Amino acid sequence: MNMPEEIGKLKQERGAVILAHNYTLPEVQDVADFVGDSLELSVRAKESGAGVIVFCGVLFMAETAKILSPDSVVLHPNPFAGCPMADMAKFEAVREYKEAHPDSLLVAYVNTSAATKTLADICCTSGNAERIIRSLPPEKRILFLPDANLGKNIMDQTGRPMELWPGYCPTHDRILPEAIQRQRREHPEAEVLVHPECRPAVTELADQALSTGGMLRQVRASTAPEFIIGTEIGIIHRMKRENPGKTFIPPIPHPVCPNMKKISLEDVLSSLQDFSPQIALPPAVMDLARQPLERMLAVTS
Ligand code: SF4
Repeated sequence: MNMPEEIGKLKQERGAVILAHNYTLPEVQDVADFVGDSLELSVRAKESGAGVIVFCGVLFMAETAKILSPDSVVLHPNPFAGCPMADMAKFEAVREYKEAHPDSLLVAYVNTSAATKTLADICCTSGNAERIIRSLPPEKRILFLPDANLGKNIMDQTGRPMELWPGYCPTHDRILPEAIQRQRREHPEAEVLVHPECRPAVTELADQALSTGGMLRQVRASTAPEFIIGTEIGIIHRMKRENPGKTFIPPIPHPVCPNMKKISLEDVLSSLQDFSPQIALPPAVMDLARQPLERMLAVTS
């Protein structure tokens, strides 16, 4: 039996579902029951009803799955797969801000730790951030954290002023406007899709700034033969599989998130064999962190 078959067999025996983010390794995506973006994975985790969820993505995503499905065992096959941007908004620093600005609404991108979410009023993903911001009372001051690029892009879309936490995604921030301009010159037929975690100077040059789920839908719907894809390279695996006649070009040679690549097939297999590592969070943290997530899901459902 090869490794994907072993994983499939164990998964059946354990009553597990495997959820994988669009940026994970191709072979990990291929053994998953569902591959998606943060919002889609959060909803799947909540609705799956599975006793065991194997979460292939970075730590904050696996924590979110546990918070939304507290009765499930959530396995995170490589505990070293974290998100540097989430680590830029530490609980203590955000708490200091909140104490100094008690009237501000804190909007936390899902790319935050469970501890930091306990301080938030509402969460958002890149797919629903615009809707979430538009849903908030206009007279309220807003702190958006931790991604200043996403925050600025949403400010430009909504016209709503916000304070921006000085965080960023190292993978998306490396994609510079010059790279998009060069690719456009070399591929004049191509549609340019970028992630809103890219710098505003990059999103301005794109045809659309979309979450990974939005990009996948746009690629399916569009008649363009070529696409310049300004996000983590892992998504191109799924785009090629779903759209065999189309061409996908990364704007820079290796837009890779090293953390998303840390979960290997071996890790998935051994987590199912050993039932570890499991996400364990204090019940009080889960209860508090669930509130901003539930508010987000209520706005977007
Ligand atoms: S791509 Fe960026 S935001 Fe996503 S997990 Fe990696 S570092 Fe974090």
